[in-house]
Amino acid sequence: MTDTMTDVIDFKALVAAAMAVRRHAYAPYSHYHVGAALLTPSGQIFVGANVENAAYPQGSCAEACAIGTMVANGARRLRAVAVIGSGPDLCTPCGGCRQRLFEFGSVETPIAIAAADGSFEIVTLGALLPRAFGPNHLPLGHLPPGHLPSGHLPDAPLA
Ligand SMILES: [Zn+2]
Repeated sequence: MTDTMTDVIDFKALVAAAMAVRRHAYAPYSHYHVGAALLTPSGQIFVGANVENAAYPQGSCAEACAIGTMVANGARRLRAVAVIGSGPDLCTPCGGCRQRLFEFGSVETPIAIAAADGSFEIVTLGALLPRAFGPNHLPLGHLPPGHLPSGHLPDAPLA
């Protein structure tokens, strides 16, 4: 990761956005509240919180919630990510969410992993998901109409 990749990103603001949405997490079972904030290349920020369910497997991660909101608003690319959890440990995306993020990011996408007090470290998605499987592994014909491989997805709604 080079300085030019991260020096224009306000990670403190991105972590603050994740911290703010974490207050709305619905986690009555684990009591582990998570907030995620996604920054797009155009400067938009989309947030999400974890949503648990009495039928445990039906719960959703904060990152999945934020990705859904991003896509619903027509954005397709990640510039940076912040994830914040409960307690003193830095909150890293779960394995499934690393894959979800890679769909719209790259090995170079910086991710701020934060503790509940807002302290954070920055890692790359490539460090979290080495040798990732992604859209580039699939022939274009297998992608939905209008889609291009990761790294080429438009940041605007598709026609
Ligand atoms: Zn997850």
